[in-house]
Amino acid sequence: MSVDTAAAVAERFKELYGAEPEGVWAAPGRVNLIGEHTDYNDGFVMPFALPHTALAAVSRREDGVLRLHSADVEGGVVELRVEELEPESDRNWTAYPSGVVWALRAAGHAVTGADIHLSSTVPAGAGLSSSAALEVVVALALNDLYDLGQKGWQLARLCQRAENMYVGAPVGIMDQTASACCEAGHALFLDTRDLSQKQIPFDLAALGLRLLVVDTQVKHSHSEGEYGKRRAGCEKGAALLGVNALRDVAYDDLDAALDRLGDDEEVRRLVRHVVTEDQRVERVVALLESGETRAIGPVLTEGHASLRDDFQVSCPELDLVVRAANTAGALGARMTGGGFGGSAIVLAEATDVETVTKAVEEAFAAAGFTAPRVFEAVPAAGARRVG
Ligand code: ADP
Ligand code: MG
Repeated sequence: MSVDTAAAVAERFKELYGAEPEGVWAAPGRVNLIGEHTDYNDGFVMPFALPHTALAAVSRREDGVLRLHSADVEGGVVELRVEELEPESDRNWTAYPSGVVWALRAAGHAVTGADIHLSSTVPAGAGLSSSAALEVVVALALNDLYDLGQKGWQLARLCQRAENMYVGAPVGIMDQTASACCEAGHALFLDTRDLSQKQIPFDLAALGLRLLVVDTQVKHSHSEGEYGKRRAGCEKGAALLGVNALRDVAYDDLDAALDRLGDDEEVRRLVRHVVTEDQRVERVVALLESGETRAIGPVLTEGHASLRDDFQVSCPELDLVVRAANTAGALGARMTGGGFGGSAIVLAEATDVETVTKAVEEAFAAAGFTAPRVFEAVPAAGARRVG
């Protein structure tokens, strides 16, 4: 992924398309602090934006032509026609930006073409939502240029439609909302049922804390099929319990609900994860709002155990990050994102960061795993115009 400034992205746009762009926009990747596999159960999530961003230099066109280029992909400019965009017709990276154009037009917005040059520092496929960053940056640019008047959460919905219908990936609403709506120094408490949201102060540096992202650099190949199975299992649980979504099972009624599920052990495990995970999000919100930031550590670790044992979406690499980090004195740790690889997060005192990082790296070396990529995540700004 390239590290470009807004000016550099504008300059490259000019080289590619022969004129200055009308503007440059940015949209970040995200990390989910807590609330995993809850978004397709109408539940709670709590992501924050990363400093890693996708940048887009964009100009309007009136002739129906859509030209796309990415600094991060081999190959030249791809030229398409907006009226010919068709869901699930494109298996390349261009499906993300052109899916957004398709979704905007399908929603009745008169987008008549664009020249777009993209460049991103969000690592692709690491569970940090490079795809949502790409979608949201394009959506925001077109919203501004075509004066569409859509709010952040509305753009997020359009981007989700683009990814669900055009790209063909059954993702929830969290990633796009995080990229569109997060604020620096805050985590975003999002109710995925009605998209109501609240910015929760999460200024780690001021408290002498650090949050590490540990990218295991693995992606186990069965992840998509397993994701589908978990979703179907959650739907089955909701149906058996007679609720619209597992979000409707109150934490206080969990034991009774589990009794009603009888001996369907798999569904019981899935239900228990989702219901306890929603409650963990609420606990983290309460702790952060009362200034007890360090106390969220054990809740994160509890969330990991639930994803590992009940939801069964972890993997040896993610489990090892959590075990090694906590043994070395971290306040808490958990896998983040869908699972089966990708990244984990670790909350630690600033003074312990070196020890914890070293412990994780040594544990990976001893286990014969690929060295992980460790970086600090500072809760950063959501999508915005930068040039
Ligand atoms: P994640 O969103 O977790 O990073 P996804 O599989 O959802 O993983 O999205 C990754 C895909 O998004 C890549 O395979 C590529 O098609 C596209 N993508 C991400 N970043 C870029 C970029 N800078 N330029 C072009 N395509 C990108
Ligand atoms: Mg993605």
